[in-house]
Amino acid sequence: MAEINIHNLRKEFGNFVAVESSTFTIADGEFFMLLGPSGCGKTTTLRMIAGLELPTSGEIIIDGEEVGQKPASQRDFAFVFQMFALYPHLNVRQNISYPLVSQGMRRAEIRQKVGEVAGILGIEEILERPVSGLSGGDRQRVALGRAIVRNPKCFLMDEPLGALDAEFREHMAGELRSLHDRMNATTVYVTHDQREAMQMGDRIVVMNYGVIEQFGTPREIYDFPATLFVAEFMGSPPMNLIQFEDHLPAGTSHMTLNGQSIGFRRLQEEALGKLTLGIRPEHVFIDDQSNYRGKVTSVEYLGTTQIVSLEVANGDHLKARFAADVPIREDETVGLGFRDDMVTLFDRSSGRALRSAHKDGVAAHG
Ligand code: ATP
Repeated sequence: MAEINIHNLRKEFGNFVAVESSTFTIADGEFFMLLGPSGCGKTTTLRMIAGLELPTSGEIIIDGEEVGQKPASQRDFAFVFQMFALYPHLNVRQNISYPLVSQGMRRAEIRQKVGEVAGILGIEEILERPVSGLSGGDRQRVALGRAIVRNPKCFLMDEPLGALDAEFREHMAGELRSLHDRMNATTVYVTHDQREAMQMGDRIVVMNYGVIEQFGTPREIYDFPATLFVAEFMGSPPMNLIQFEDHLPAGTSHMTLNGQSIGFRRLQEEALGKLTLGIRPEHVFIDDQSNYRGKVTSVEYLGTTQIVSLEVANGDHLKARFAADVPIREDETVGLGFRDDMVTLFDRSSGRALRSAHKDGVAAHG
């Protein structure tokens, strides 16, 4: 059980600011992702939550208690790193028992707890085996067992699946998520992989150069990116970005692009000057009536869908994701439409999305 409140958290290393001023709340029982490119401050944030790094300023409040200056040993968190380190000379049971032995727990109790954890992880059969001969997946499970057995308030995980190949990584991500759903312990998980964050996270913080770009559910972040950085970082292929200049008064829900009217969610603020239209590839469709035309430059067939690259007006390039059975060929020219409820407009000078309304009138960007 742990609710974690991060308030104005900042970390400087000499003159370098690794984490600028982070504020967010991790709810009790949540699977929470810290996501961003290498060097953005994810690990530093996690290490401050763990108590392995002291904040320069700001607060970390765990279940109502400020712990920012408390050592790691007083926080009751379990840390799981990439390349799980197991004790090679001990067998599986001894590895999992280790934290309880160090606490001086009685043997019978240790045996019972290790048995329970082995049951949760499905590794009862290998408890007496040496860890040296185990497969990668079983090693991961043993390391998780060692973290779980302490029954900590919270799990802190730093790229735990980073060293695995793609297929196995996806499998272990699913296992970790279902393990979390059974145990319901608050989990804070660092990753640079946007797919992993979307697959596992209840909520995600997206960081860039020590700054929080956006904080929300996977759906909020993917569908309504708050900044140009998030628009490009999330999604594969990423959001299409088309630059234009215009004056769009507050309340507007249409603009013209190359003679074609494009709809979007009603703007709640005025937009003036350099703007960018963002549309995800799956929200582009073929519209024979449209004056916004694109010449197909390549078609990448993916089985269930196809990624179609198009050259459009002003030398811009777009990618569209169509169903695999949509007939389309290289070099043909087609009219294009955008799903108007999924268009996001950005102010290019600030890099931020313009505030607009959902269909039900709720602001998409605050
Ligand atoms: P990665 O996935 O590559 O570890 P990250 O987002 O986790 O990236 P951090 O490890 O938090 O990034 O590092 C953020 C920045 O702070 C980096 O530029 C890093 O070089 C710097 N940094 C981290 N620890 C220290 C330190 N002890 N002394 C000086 N600079 C540091």
